[in-house]
Amino acid sequence: MDLWYKSTRDSKERVRASEAVLTGLAPDGGLYVPETVPEFTVPLKDLTDARYQDVAYEVMRLFLTDYTEAELKDCIEKAYDSKFDVPEIAPVVKVGYVYHLELFHGATIAFKDMALSILPYLMTTAARKNQVENEIVILTATSGDTGKAALAGFADVPGTRIIVFYPKDGVSKIQERQMVTQKGGNVDVVALHGNFDSAQNGVKAMYTDQALKEELAADGYQFSSANSINIGRLVPQIVYYFWAYIQMLSRGQIEDGEEINLVVPTGNFGNILAAYYAKRMGLPVKKLLCASNENKVLYDFFTTGIYDKNRDFILTISPSMDILISSNLERLIYEIAGEDARITRELMEELSRTGRYTITQEMRDQLDCFVGGFATETQTKEQIREVYQRTGYIMDPHTAVASFVCKQYRVDTNDPAKCVIASTASPYKFVGSVMSAIDSSCENVDEFTLLKEFPKLSHTPMPPAIRDILDAEVLHHRECDPGQMKATVEDILHL
Ligand SMILES: *Cc1c(COP(=O)(O)O)cnc(C)c1O
Repeated sequence: MDLWYKSTRDSKERVRASEAVLTGLAPDGGLYVPETVPEFTVPLKDLTDARYQDVAYEVMRLFLTDYTEAELKDCIEKAYDSKFDVPEIAPVVKVGYVYHLELFHGATIAFKDMALSILPYLMTTAARKNQVENEIVILTATSGDTGKAALAGFADVPGTRIIVFYPKDGVSKIQERQMVTQKGGNVDVVALHGNFDSAQNGVKAMYTDQALKEELAADGYQFSSANSINIGRLVPQIVYYFWAYIQMLSRGQIEDGEEINLVVPTGNFGNILAAYYAKRMGLPVKKLLCASNENKVLYDFFTTGIYDKNRDFILTISPSMDILISSNLERLIYEIAGEDARITRELMEELSRTGRYTITQEMRDQLDCFVGGFATETQTKEQIREVYQRTGYIMDPHTAVASFVCKQYRVDTNDPAKCVIASTASPYKFVGSVMSAIDSSCENVDEFTLLKEFPKLSHTPMPPAIRDILDAEVLHHRECDPGQMKATVEDILHL
């Protein structure tokens, strides 16, 4: 039976999974949510010999019901292959008294790979199923991690093109090098003379530009979005929470049915929302710890019921969490509003008008499985150093935010449940901040110099993702002003 998706802002809009993957955002501006959250009925202890790919199929088939078994398995096998540097794809590692679910073994060593390595296949399959013959063009504005993961995911996938805009002076040297060396006949990378917001606004404007849409169609193209609100990114992220549980079960680290806590370093609320769906599907999860950096809008929301983005934007050493509007929270709001599209729309309109909204006590009561926490910059760095000194394990700054929040929670509550921390990036990717946290003499040293030291210090081999960019040829030289983004796209596509 087909599972349908409806928009959080209009209860009448109803589409199949493949259409939701293809369009991303609903036409009314809402996000697609499944009409019911399916139950996971396979006993977890029966999966202890399964591969990641098998678990992925068992989870994703429940959501992507209009994909055939052959189609879905094909997408999964193509996505989760030797691009990942370990056969477990997302291994669980015990670090002191907690467990780290390492989501950074993919092509770009950040957790975005978990979803962006499969999204292109889900999307091209969806295009075929819906008789779309146009080539799909993905436009992405990036502040760093998403751009490279999307480029790597879409590179040389037949039937797709991808164009990434990044702020010229707004990403790290390593992130920039990762993008401008990207290979693939269908990829373009453009350095924008502006900040992330101007990149994002320019991309949004092109997505809604009717004239451009017609120009594209005339040449056999259409836009689609690889943004984290696409259910094609959300659904693959549910998989690894089941996978973490299964790994721990098979090693006897937990009993069958034992509840665990999940701790997630959060920005756009996508990763933790996937954890929430896993819980709703029946995974034994007690608490969901939502960890923020100093941009702690979500911590304030969970502790007061008020979402308020009217505050200074703080640049931190965990830049992928420097977000004041967590788009995916809309799906949770819809849920706790009793699936009322009108209430959700009003709150979201209030957010865009005033920058804030307040939820009712009745809505707050349904959030009791969430615990908000945050770490300051100092706490984050101390956590990196403390865990390194105690265990030898080196975390990236995003993971360290979650690690600190986890420690604080255990001290505050004495909750004995085992904690699994979603480890969202390899420390190699943020080697400058990480090494400075451990040893202050590294503070002004060039990141590429530090990279060479890092295998010795961390006792981990240099990931291919880093090795490959050290002396890779720069392939992308395009730059443009914010006002020229559309002309640049027209030029790239020869419109
Ligand atoms: C994107 C990202 C996050 C935040 O994930 P959301 O799904 O946006 O909450 C955390 N850490 C890293 C390294 C990321 O790239």
